[in-house]
Order: sequence, then structure tokens, then C-alpha cells
Amino acid sequence: MPLVNMKDMLHHAYSNGYAVGAFDLRNLDFLEAIVAAAESARAPVILSLNESYFDHFDFELLISAVEVAAQRAVVPMAIHLDHGENSDSAVKAIRLGCNGVMVDASHLPLGENLEITRTVVKIAHACGVAVEGELGYVPCVEGEGAQRHPGVVSYTTLAEAKGFVERTGVDFLAVSIGTVHGRMKGKPKLDWSRLKEINAALGIPLAIHGGTGLTDDQFRKLITLGVAKINYYTALSELAGDSVRAAAKSRTKGYTALLAGVRTVVSAEVERCMRVWGSAGRAAEVLTQCRHWLNVEHVVVYNAPGLNEERLRAVMAEGQHQLSSIPGVREVQVGSVADKSTRYRHCWLIRFASTAVIDSYNQHPAQVAFVDRLFHFAAADRLTADYLVAGVEPGAIVLSISSAVATLDTNSTLVREEI
Ligand SMILES: [Zn+2]
Repeated sequence: MPLVNMKDMLHHAYSNGYAVGAFDLRNLDFLEAIVAAAESARAPVILSLNESYFDHFDFELLISAVEVAAQRAVVPMAIHLDHGENSDSAVKAIRLGCNGVMVDASHLPLGENLEITRTVVKIAHACGVAVEGELGYVPCVEGEGAQRHPGVVSYTTLAEAKGFVERTGVDFLAVSIGTVHGRMKGKPKLDWSRLKEINAALGIPLAIHGGTGLTDDQFRKLITLGVAKINYYTALSELAGDSVRAAAKSRTKGYTALLAGVRTVVSAEVERCMRVWGSAGRAAEVLTQCRHWLNVEHVVVYNAPGLNEERLRAVMAEGQHQLSSIPGVREVQVGSVADKSTRYRHCWLIRFASTAVIDSYNQHPAQVAFVDRLFHFAAADRLTADYLVAGVEPGAIVLSISSAVATLDTNSTLVREEI
């Protein structure tokens, strides 16, 4: 349950002078290491999945594990899509469980970056999901040495940053002030006065990509100048690589033994960062001051006296198809019971990413069209309710369709609304 609203989380960091680590992960070893470090340091953390890596692992499989890990953790977490390519990526990530998305069109001309980012913000905000944009260009790809992809740093300018944030509505901005993805040759030189001006003008949490190689003092100074989110991966990747190499040199045989040290070294480095960046010890405040991130189950139970079974199946199948495509809808289930004496024989169970989706779903053209064209007629006799899943309010907990239906008749505290 300690998934929290990512906007609240980063604003807490921003106004209290610390930064939350966003650690890219690409397998269960990294996931377990990062969660263990956060719990040991009692720190909020962002579990980050980078689209640049989706060729290397199955995003859908890994994010399922990430969501379970976040839900059972005792410290606040957010799940973030890092370097999303476009609005389709953002919609998919939200469906799969991300409550923060980054769209990175920073390599494109400013006008295109603006347009793509604005579209993603519109979609994500309708789902209650926070958005990070990037302006200016931080070269290379996370985890790859900058010397191999020198690129050219394109610094974020103050004038562009102001216009970009106003016109797109992003919640956080990744700025380019001299860091590079990967590890830089030599010591990175950062443009402090540029960062200071941008922070003073924008007043929103800023993000730094390419944290590897910065000194502790540089990190502390970044945080005093508005950086509330630090992306950090290359150093973790190198430490994990070193651990595997050392195990191989010791003539260790077998895959399990080769990887045995990875979690320990990754976890130690993540915890060290949390202490330097000031997020250690902040978990309790974040949990009490930030909104918790709760899915909603939209339940419709109904009878369809005017339809035969075959037609009803067709309506359900079409509804599943149409409604599943609405941003913020995580899954659509349909079901029926054979017992004709049951008060309601058929049901829909639609899982929304957050309470914000209740409104955007009801107004979405695909939903309106389906209801007007098919569902009103098919299900004239129906009852609809929205439940917070594993919510804190007593009586608002629904774990299955059957318990939902059982509760509908007895619990007067539930939100009820007619479609
Ligand atoms: Zn990055």
C-alpha cells in the first residue's frame, strides 16, 4: 500500500530540501536491492523503468513484480516510466501501474518536444498521474559510457524552460546543466548559475539525469538549487558488473553463484545515495503528508432481460475491447452467474488507476458511445459503484466481484452513481 502520489512525494522533497532517488531497475536483483535499501534507510524512493531498456527485459512482467514490491513495502514508493518515447508509451505504462511518467522528446526540435509533452500531460493528468518533461539534451543512454557516445550537451535555457513548463503543464522538469548519461571522462562541470535562475523562475521540483560521477558536495548543492529527483543507474550497473566479474575470477561456477553478490553491492550504494541526498529518514513524514495512491474498482452489476446469451456475450466482448483502450483503465473483467434467482446476474469490474479516472472515464468518447449505443439498452436494470481498492476507509475494501456484490446491498457508506 505505500504507493504514494508522485507529485506529492517530490513536492515534499522540494519543500524540505532533499532529493528522492529514481533508480532504474532491470531485473529482480535490482528491485530487491533498491527496496531493501529504502526500507533500511527509511527513505521514499522512485522505482524507475526505462523505456530505452525494454529490448532487454519484458516490461509487463517486471512491472508486475515492481507493483507487488511497492505495495508490500513499508516505505513510500512511486513507480515511474523513465524516458518514455510517446503518448502510447505513457498510456501503456499507466495501464500497467506507473503513477509517474516521463516523456523525453528533448532530442527533437523544441516545437515537437512541446507538442508531444503537452499531449502526454493531458492524458496523464486525466489519470491523476504526474509528468516529468525534459528540456535541453542530456547526451547518451543511461548505463553507457559517455566517451562512447560523446554527443553534445544542449543546456536548458531559462527562457525556454519557463515557456515549456507554462505551455505543457509538466509537474517536474529534467534540466540539462552539464551532466551526461553514463560516466563522463573527467569531473563533470555544472552550470550552477543557470540552475539557480531556472529554479527561481519555475518553482517546481527539478530532476537531474546522469547522477553517476558527481561528488557528494555537487549533489548537496544541486539539492539546494531545486533538484528533488536524481536519476542514478550507471554506478549501480558498474558495481553489479564488478561483482559478477569478481565472482567469475574466483572461478565460481554456475549462474546463481555468479550473481550472488549483486544485491548486496547495489543495495549498499543505493542506501549511501539516500543518506547523501537527505531522503533517508523521511519515510514517515511522506506517508502521513502525501496522498496514497489507490486504484479504484468500478463495479456494475446488472440484468439484461432483453438479450439472449449470444448477443450479451457480443456486447460484453465489444465493451471489453472499447473500454480497455481508455487511458487510466487498467483492466476490464466481465462475468455472469448461471443462478437465475440471483438479484443481479451479470457484472463488469473495471479497474481504474486512480480516483481521477472516475471522471475522465465517464466523459471519454469511447465510454459514452458504448453506453449510449449498447449498454443502456442491454442493462436497463443495474447498479454501479466505485470502490477504493485496499483503501483506508472502513467498508471501502473490495477484493473480488462476489464481495463487491455482497456489499452493494448492505453497505450504505459506498459511493454509488448511475452511469
Ligand atoms: Zn535519463
